[in-house]
Amino acid sequence: MDYQLETKCIHTGKPKFEQDSFGAVATPIYQTAMFSHPEIGVSSGYDYSRESNPTRAHLEEIVKKLEGAEDTVACSSGMAAVSICLSLFETGAHIICSEDLYGGSVRMFQAYEEKGLQFSYTDTSDLDKTERLITPNTKAFYIETPSNPTMQITDLKALRKLADKYGLLIIVDNTFLSPYFQTPIELGADMVLHSGTKFLCGHNDVIAGFLSTRSKELAEKIRYIYKTVGSCLSPFDSYLMIRGIKTLAIRQEKQQENALRIAQWLNSQEKVTQVYYPGLKEHPGYEINRKQARGFGSMISFRVDSEETARRILQKVQLIIYAESLGGVETLVTYPMIQTHGDVPEETRRKLGITEDFLRLSVGIENVEDLIADLEQAFR
Ligand SMILES: *Cc1c(COP(=O)(O)O)cnc(C)c1O
Repeated sequence: MDYQLETKCIHTGKPKFEQDSFGAVATPIYQTAMFSHPEIGVSSGYDYSRESNPTRAHLEEIVKKLEGAEDTVACSSGMAAVSICLSLFETGAHIICSEDLYGGSVRMFQAYEEKGLQFSYTDTSDLDKTERLITPNTKAFYIETPSNPTMQITDLKALRKLADKYGLLIIVDNTFLSPYFQTPIELGADMVLHSGTKFLCGHNDVIAGFLSTRSKELAEKIRYIYKTVGSCLSPFDSYLMIRGIKTLAIRQEKQQENALRIAQWLNSQEKVTQVYYPGLKEHPGYEINRKQARGFGSMISFRVDSEETARRILQKVQLIIYAESLGGVETLVTYPMIQTHGDVPEETRRKLGITEDFLRLSVGIENVEDLIADLEQAFR
């Protein structure tokens, strides 16, 4: 039986665990590094937890089903997933990226540039511009949609056509919408990355990452790198992720509902000069996002009238937490210029508008009136 997403979040892989001797409803934590062999050449299917572990395998099964992937590996962080993904490419390979990416990814790309990979950055919502950057060495597109933090939307189906014309891979960092709102493999992506730390976990208490693949061939290559490198998620953190994902649907619905209200409220504020939220009709990517995703998410960036206003908001918020992350039940405000995007070259930051007057909100599941009241007092 093929269930809807909300049901998959809760019930995927369960029958396997009902076969255990006690009928546990929650997934057991197999806190063990290795597994015994009853005889030479005989294995339960699990030998050593770097390669695979039953708790982690259950989590991987859930995310795989949510993404509609061939396979998913659960990593010790989102950055570990990015690193495994980049290990696929050989010296000289060229990758075209969204110009507006998570700062940590840009930092990793800079490190890989020293090892001979090449990266070009562009507004991938403009496909003509993107096509002009393709060279004989180009191997892949690396996309965030919505992008981070200026919320540019890339048309994934159109990008697939371009990728097919040149035989390129599409890699999507799907952290901002999560598989609840967007499933890039369905739209033509070859690999999907996540910082599981964010929406999938949802409770700001685990660092985790995921890398999902569409084809058997890629899945095998990624599994091989994964078990060799060993940046795997621990059994306990895997358990917490399984627990978090059970409420993904209701969290994301509530977060989005709150975010839309807050985006509209920000839009009406004198001190706010621009709001970046793909759920607002005036957002340039509104239509494309509406077509390819099931929601707009709960990340809002906005620009205020001065650096002083931005700093005052960060200092005065009481309920909203000034911290560098996103996706959890707590509402957070981030100063991208010095936090998430501190490693992006200043010139690029200025071009994208990630400046002193620019803030980013990750909206949580609190009562929205309380959140707006907190912003109101902080703006005053
Ligand atoms: C946080 C984040 C990452 C990195 O993930 P970690 O779990 O912090 O290692 C990658 N991409 C995006 C979009 C992120 O927000």
